Amino acid sequence: MDWRVLRLRLAKPLVTSHQTVSDRAILVLSVTVDMGGSTAVGYGEVAPLAGWTSLSVDHAVQVLSTMAQSPACQKPFRLANDGLNEMFSGLRDTPSVRFGLELALLDALARHADCPLREVLAPPGHRPSDRVELQYACGIADIDETVERAGRAVESGYSHLKLKVGASDLDAEVRRLKAVRKEVAELGLRLDANGAFDFSEARRFIDRTEALGIDLFEQPLAAADLSGLNKLADISAIDIGADESCAPIARARQLIEAGRIDALVIKPAAVGGLLPTISLIEAARERNIRVVLSTLLESAIGRRAIAELAAAHPYIAGPQGLATGDWFVTDVTDTPDSIADGHWLLDGQPGIGFSPRVEGQPCFDAGGPS
Ligand SMILES: [Mg+2]
Repeated sequence: MDWRVLRLRLAKPLVTSHQTVSDRAILVLSVTVDMGGSTAVGYGEVAPLAGWTSLSVDHAVQVLSTMAQSPACQKPFRLANDGLNEMFSGLRDTPSVRFGLELALLDALARHADCPLREVLAPPGHRPSDRVELQYACGIADIDETVERAGRAVESGYSHLKLKVGASDLDAEVRRLKAVRKEVAELGLRLDANGAFDFSEARRFIDRTEALGIDLFEQPLAAADLSGLNKLADISAIDIGADESCAPIARARQLIEAGRIDALVIKPAAVGGLLPTISLIEAARERNIRVVLSTLLESAIGRRAIAELAAAHPYIAGPQGLATGDWFVTDVTDTPDSIADGHWLLDGQPGIGFSPRVEGQPCFDAGGPS
């Protein structure tokens, strides 16, 4: 196992309720796996984000350094390994590290089988797609800018626009949404309040906007308010989704068990990996809860991995929240995400499709990690 910490420059500062950052610290992980006679290299990414994961990149380095000392982390890595379960159990509280390590192993498996990652993620008998529909993220903008971006989304082939709400007063929000609806009647609208409302504010907001054909209202209430979200989903004419409430994974499971929420927006790095995400998708399917996959602002490694999962699973349908590559001025591949006509078009390259590079050079020595 080997890793490199990178700081990737962002196109604009990322402002969250916890911090403002102009570059994104990530850790690129590489594992060499013993496949019985031959070895395969796989890549993963650990990219904690304040507010979503309690971990920092420095802490992730400590976790990996400790793990690298364990007998389970022998070189090369063996999958038939008594310590592997224990090692993954030990990462329960560090979901972004678990996501990175699991991804590196799955990527190695797919490369060894000479197939794209989506083929090792697909349920048995299901042929993965090579196209993933995406939503267009509008972000926070005034009325004119929002209308302009909505027009751009339609021109670029997107069927759904995602808007941030909750930063202005209700009248202004309603004016903005009506202006967008008037301009682009055919565009599906998804709203994300990032937990900005209390219950009565959310109800008033829904009453004023339900006639506008809103496809999904994401995280109207605070992340911890699961009972409020369930109650709102019971009475709302608009589908209610949970995003921040889906992490940690135990909360997502609680929501699924209650079976009242309409949709889950799942960030695989926040729930501990692609495989835990698949278990959530399967459970949500049984309860008829929609699932939308989204990124935690990962580099090209994480984005591609999540796109591969979206293409792999038959229950994942409709636009996904994966068009976040434009945030990055520098990234870990020279090739940008292949997005056209509102869809991510996945090539047939093995694994995640590329080996990470930084400033034109491979992230790791050509001979593979030590
Ligand atoms: Mg959200």
